[in-house]
Parts: sequence; C-alpha cells; structure tokens
Amino acid sequence: MPHTQSSRFVGAHVSASGGVENAPLNAAKIGARAFALFTKNQRRWQAKPLSSDNIDKFRANCERLGFAAEQILPHDSYLINLGHPEPEALARSREAFIDEMQRCEQLGLTLLNFHPGSHLRKVDEDRCLATIADSINLALEATQGVSAVIENTAGQGSNLGHRFEQLAAIIDRVEDKSRVGVCLDTCHTFAAGYDLRSTEACQHTFAEFDRIVGLSYLKGMHLNGSKSTLSSRVDRHHSLHQGELGSDVFQFLMSHPATKGIPMVLETIDETLWADEIQWLYSLEHR
Ligand SMILES: [Zn+2]
Ligand SMILES: [Zn+2]
Repeated sequence: MPHTQSSRFVGAHVSASGGVENAPLNAAKIGARAFALFTKNQRRWQAKPLSSDNIDKFRANCERLGFAAEQILPHDSYLINLGHPEPEALARSREAFIDEMQRCEQLGLTLLNFHPGSHLRKVDEDRCLATIADSINLALEATQGVSAVIENTAGQGSNLGHRFEQLAAIIDRVEDKSRVGVCLDTCHTFAAGYDLRSTEACQHTFAEFDRIVGLSYLKGMHLNGSKSTLSSRVDRHHSLHQGELGSDVFQFLMSHPATKGIPMVLETIDETLWADEIQWLYSLEHR
C-alpha cells in the first residue's frame, strides 16, 4: 500500500467486539494506519478486567500489524462525566476514568480520548471546567505514561469543550501539561461554530485554535462529515463525501504539519465506506 510511507496515521474507530485484540485486526482489514477502540463496553459502568490473554494478544497483533501506541486513540465510556456537579456521581465518573486509564496502561497505550464533561445546568461553566481539570489531575496522578486527550464537543445540551477557550481553561489548570492534549473532531468543531468549509476558513479556525489552545496540544483528530450546520450545536456525523463540510477541510488536514504523527480517526456513519475514505484521504496528501 503506497501510504505506508506517509507520516500521517489515518484510520477509523473499529469494533473491539470479542476482545480488544480484535481491534487491530479490524483496522488492518480496511487499510488503516491508526485506530480508535473502546477498551470496555462504552454504555456500561462495570467491566471485567482485561485478561493477560487479551493484553498479550492485543500487543502482539499491534506489533505484527505495525500499530505503535502513537497510532492508537482509545475512547472512554460515554457514561463518564468528569465535570459532574454532584459529588457521588462525580466520584463514580472519576473512578471509571482511572480504570480506563489503567486499561490503557495495561495495553501499552499512551493516549485516552474523552469528552470533557457537562454542567447539567446545576453549576456554572467555570466551576465545571475546574472540576474537569481536577478530575484529570487525579487520573494523571494515579497512572503513568497515558495522556488525557480532551475531545472538543459540538456543545450539545450542557456539554462543555465546544469553545477553544474552554479547552484552554481546562489545560491551564492541569498540573502535568506534558500529559494533556486535545482531539479535534471536524464535525464537532463545525457544529460548535468554527467554519471549515473552505481552505481560508480552515486556516482561520486553526489559527484561532493555535492562538487560544496551541497546536502543540493537538494529539488526535476525528475526521467526520457533518449532518449538522454551522453553529447548530448538534452532534450528527456524516460520511466524508456527504453533509455540510465539503472536501477542502480534509485536503487542508492531510497537508497540515500539525497532523503528522497523530492518530486521525474516522467516526463516519457508514463503515462500509471506511476503506475507501481512508484511501481517499491518503490520496489528498500528494495533491
Ligand atoms: Zn469524535
Ligand atoms: Zn460526535
């Protein structure tokens, strides 16, 4: 495959059903050089620990298929809210998040992608952002070698992390800045009000991100088309060739220096298109 020489790692959020060790196999099947996975059921609080068999097979499959830790972006459970306004629920989320970080440690992974959290209209935004940062600090203290990668959100409901200023406010309060980063999702960015429909718009949006957060914090990307419109604050992904975004943004990303060496993961809605979408993205690199 020609793109094995590329310094960009493009892939998709693949299934880990039957065991985490299946994720790298599923990624390789579609020609991916990056992948995301859930290391436990993303809709349940409880999960049995990873067995040494799961761990050994995962590591062996990754090595055999050429997936280094920097090419893998695990995603945490949807239930976790690190900014939860109520103490008991917050404690439960923090405990689950530390478990997620520990699972990453066991698998030899170095990144964990998560949605920052929601204030549920019970506390103000600043208080919630501070709680999220405290949650990250606790998790970083409890673990080693795994970075907390905050995903920007569409800003649906009371979800924070849709404004770059909010991402910066969280990072500002994180003690170990070497282990915190951001994953930008193209659909979320656009729905949150940052235009990406032309090269100029992308340049402007990335300059804003660099000014407010810093491109050095960019540790991952989610590559999605968007069913939702600009500033709609609605999170609805689409396939790359459909929806509101157009293709300039993907051309822009496949030539931007900040996307070298970080996992870029499709969460587009039709997984039968993933192999083609990956091929297409790599073809943009050489134009
Ligand atoms: Zn995403
Ligand atoms: Zn989304």
